[in-house]
Parts: sequence; C-alpha cells; structure tokens
Amino acid sequence: MKYGRTYNFSAGPAMMPEEVLEEIAAEMMNYRGSGMCVMEMSHRSAVFQQIRDEAESNLRKLMQIPDNYKVLFVQGGGTVQFAMVPMNLMKNGVACYIETGAWSKKAIAEARKYGEVQVVASSADRNFSYIPDCSNLEIPDNADYVYICENETIHGTTYHQLPDTKGKILVADQSSMFLSRPCDVSRYGLIWAGVQKNVGPAGMAVVIIREDLLRDDLPAFVPTYLSYKTHADNDSLYNTPNCWSIYCCGKVFQYLLAHGGLEAMAKRNEEKAAILYDFLDHSHLFTGAVRKEDRSLMNVPFVTPSKEQDAAVVAACKAAGFDNLKGHKSVGGLRASIYNAMPREGVEALVAFLKQYEAEHA
Ligand SMILES: *Cc1c(COP(=O)(O)O)cnc(C)c1O
Repeated sequence: MKYGRTYNFSAGPAMMPEEVLEEIAAEMMNYRGSGMCVMEMSHRSAVFQQIRDEAESNLRKLMQIPDNYKVLFVQGGGTVQFAMVPMNLMKNGVACYIETGAWSKKAIAEARKYGEVQVVASSADRNFSYIPDCSNLEIPDNADYVYICENETIHGTTYHQLPDTKGKILVADQSSMFLSRPCDVSRYGLIWAGVQKNVGPAGMAVVIIREDLLRDDLPAFVPTYLSYKTHADNDSLYNTPNCWSIYCCGKVFQYLLAHGGLEAMAKRNEEKAAILYDFLDHSHLFTGAVRKEDRSLMNVPFVTPSKEQDAAVVAACKAAGFDNLKGHKSVGGLRASIYNAMPREGVEALVAFLKQYEAEHA
C-alpha cells in the first residue's frame, strides 16, 4: 500500500478508494481555480451548487434512479433516519419491522416512540445468524410500511431476496451495502444509507424517496429539519449541509461510474467475499458466524474456538498491518469489513496471513 497506509477492515468509517483520496488532496488548497477549499465555500455559491448537482446526477446514473424519486443529502448520519422514517411515513400509526440484528433493533425502538410497531419476522432465536423467511409475512391492512435493515453490519447477514410486503411500501436501511451491487430502486418506497460505511465521510445519510411519500400534513411535533419534504423542496440546501461529505461522496460516485458501475462492483465484491468465505469454510481454526445463504458480501464475522484466541488473532493481524478486525463489542469474535474500497489484494493478503497463523497455532 502507498503512503504507508494499512489494510483497514473497519466496519465504518471505512476505507475510501485511494484514487479518490488523491484527487481530494490535489484539490484541497484551491478547488479548481476557485481560490478556496471546498470546506471554505458558501453552500449557496455557484461552484458548490455544481458539486451538489453533479453528485446527485452521478448517483442517479449509477443506481438508475427513476424520475419519480428524490435524492436527499441529510445530516445526522444513519441514526437520525431511525426517527425520520416513522415520523414521516406513519400515517395510520402502524408499521411492520423485520428484526435481524442490532441495527434493526435500534430502528424498532425508535419507531415505537411514534406509533405501533409489529415485528413480523425475527432471527433473534439464533443470535441473528440468518435472515428469516419473508415470503409470507402477516402484514396488517393498515400497515404504513415494512422496514428492513438490508445488510446487518454487526452480524454479517444480507437479504438475497427482498421480503414480500403484500403491496405495502418497502423501506430499507442500506447503510453497509449501499452501491455494492445493482439495486432496483422501483421496488422500494424509501432507501436510506449512512454514507460512512461504503461511500464517504461520516455525518450524512443519502435518502432516496418516492415523491408521493413526501407529505405536507405531518404532525406539528415533527421538526422542520426532520421532514423529508423540507429537504426535497430545497435541493438538500434548506440549511448549511455537510458540504464536505457531499463533495467526497460525489467523487466516489464518479469513481464508481468510471470503474464499470454497480455491475462491476458486484462482480468484484463477490470475488473478494468468495476468497474469504472459501478460506473459512475449509479452516480448522476459524468458523464463519452466518448461515451460508444469508452471508453478507460486505461484513464477514468469524470466530475461533475461544475468546482468548480471538483476541490473540486480532492482535497478530494488527501487528502484521491488518487493522480493525475485532468483532463488534456486542457479539465478539472477529469481523472483516470488505467494502467497495477494500482492494482484492487486501483480502488475499489477509487470507494468506490467517492461513499461516492457522498452520502455526491449530
Ligand atoms: C452504522 C450503521 C447505522 C448508524 O449509522 P450512524 O451514522 O452511526 O448513525 C445504521 N444502520 C446500519 C446498518 C449501520 O451499519
């Protein structure tokens, strides 16, 4: 790795493409003859407006977002979306949630502040190591939407097939899989993603929302900033946005377009994940934590037979230049997050190291 950089397997904030960081560095002191850094620019200036508009249009191209969907850049990261979704989408005050781990539990707890939540499927019985069957859910007629966390960052599960929502609006938290593979936006009412997992700097979420879900009749308690319509009506410039994150995310959108788009990313990500899963499937020391058919391409949790050995492997990895392999504190073990920006060589080098560790310690 150039610049003495490390292979960083963090779940987020996470690696960004080196090419993008280099471009940002080159533009740092004087962005394209403007005489200033993007961090110093007025968000109302023509030069920033162009950065924002290009970011949106490149994301639209990448995901082939239909014209009847708005793209919003909202501050507050992922967690604010746990509240914005029920505040904006609960009309009847009833929503269905699928519980697949820590992030869907947080979403459920937050939604309960605003209405009735029905948990219509759960994988809590086996420590969230799989995605429950969602082909015939019991969805009440008055449900406003069905909510999923499409990739559970901590547990390493992902939906390879979307739930049958029985005609209700599907809402998805795509934070840790956003732009990792093609996505048919028309199947969702709302997609949101905190950007610090697979795109750019923390503190912002991208929201893709179908226009008919924007409302003028929100309850009075909903803060102006937390209405999706506020952002839609103002091109995400109602107040000073996270200009820096928008700029960096825009660079990543452009980078992805230049490198073959989401089809190419999916192919790369499948190959990268296969290298790691294939190793785990044949290892005598390490075991993957997730049911095979529900494995994430982005977050790969695994364990050794003991907590002590887990910690020893994490330390050995760090010493060898593989950083942030400790599993989330709520589940333990190890976790390798291998988002778009993790090069294939990083995964190959990690597997080579783990193989050698196994040979010496098994
Ligand atoms: C990280 C994460 C969040 C929370 O994001 P913050 O920006 O830290 O609030 C929500 N959902 C998923 C799936 C995540 O991985």
